[in-house]
Amino acid sequence: MDKLGVWAFEDYDMKTEIRKISPRELAFDIDGVIADTFRAFVKTAREKYSIEIEYEAITDYNFRNVIDIDEETSNEIIEMILEDPLGMGIDPIGGAVDVLTRLSNLGPVFFVTARSNRDAIIEWVEKTLGLADGNTIHLEATGAHEDKLPILLKHGIRYFVEDRLETCYLIQGSPVTPIVFEQPWNRKEHPFLTVGDWDEIHDMIEW
Ligand SMILES: [Mg+2]
Repeated sequence: MDKLGVWAFEDYDMKTEIRKISPRELAFDIDGVIADTFRAFVKTAREKYSIEIEYEAITDYNFRNVIDIDEETSNEIIEMILEDPLGMGIDPIGGAVDVLTRLSNLGPVFFVTARSNRDAIIEWVEKTLGLADGNTIHLEATGAHEDKLPILLKHGIRYFVEDRLETCYLIQGSPVTPIVFEQPWNRKEHPFLTVGDWDEIHDMIEW
């Protein structure tokens, strides 16, 4: 094969592997993908409880396996995160607002969270994205990680951006392709597509 042929082949190969994703086939997890939730956890632990946690040290989604924090304090902070994400000042992850705002102009943006308090997180999403019109998002709060896949399937979603590897394994083998949003707790060997930041998500979308 001549040089041109090789290049053409490589180009083709790349496109089939990472084909552009149609906005209506794409859905997002919230915490750890859009919301910088674990950073809010670290900040609250430091400011309210004088507990120093290194973000990069959170190498397990079940963070109490790898960081030193007592259960009571940890539960208190989690309670705040779940019940008052807006009041807690959880920031969006860098780049998320731009991409999501652009997506919301094309149709409802689909979010699926394992949180159970839908009102609290929908308020956070709307305020964070600066959306006045609730119609531009569709948010499902399943209350359980295992319930994400049925929701995604029901709505014809084909790609789901998620930071929790265990959830990606639950989705694997279904018509939904999980995309791992890289975080310290998912930097281990896995078979999934990975994105490192929101620029990479932007580039996967068929605008
Ligand atoms: Mg998450």
